[in-house]
Amino acid sequence: HCEPGTLTARADREKVQQILLNLLSNAVKFTERGGRVQVHSRGDGDRVRIAVRDTGIGIEAEKLDSIFEPFVQVGRALNRPSEGTGLGLAISRDLARGMGGDLTVQSELGVGSTLTLELPRAEGDA
Ligand code: ADP
Repeated sequence: HCEPGTLTARADREKVQQILLNLLSNAVKFTERGGRVQVHSRGDGDRVRIAVRDTGIGIEAEKLDSIFEPFVQVGRALNRPSEGTGLGLAISRDLARGMGGDLTVQSELGVGSTLTLELPRAEGDA
């Protein structure tokens, strides 16, 4: 879902692709068959926000901060143990912050998660 019109961020294209690939593959990995994954982008003042939402397993409130720590995998035994390194979100948040943006999470256990990539809006973008 995109707002009508153009929305341009000032960012490194390859790094944004790497971050979105990480967010999308997590959304798919932690959502059961029949669930939904949606991407929403919108402008908010001088920021661009791209949200990846899923209707998956969700994350406990107390664990939300820790998912950005290197090697943290919440409920590893319940996930598919052979998948992932626990590094994706740590790297993604570093990349986002390095571009003057941020990566944040909202989630409810059993309901779903929204990971939001925030980037500076390009100057002159309407
Ligand atoms: P990986 O996916 O390799 O385990 P990440 O750093 O990308 O590593 O994610 C860390 C942990 O955060 C995951 O193992 C999982 O426990 C949790 N997580 C990330 N994205 C989601 C999501 N969309 N839904 C539920 N849990 C998630």
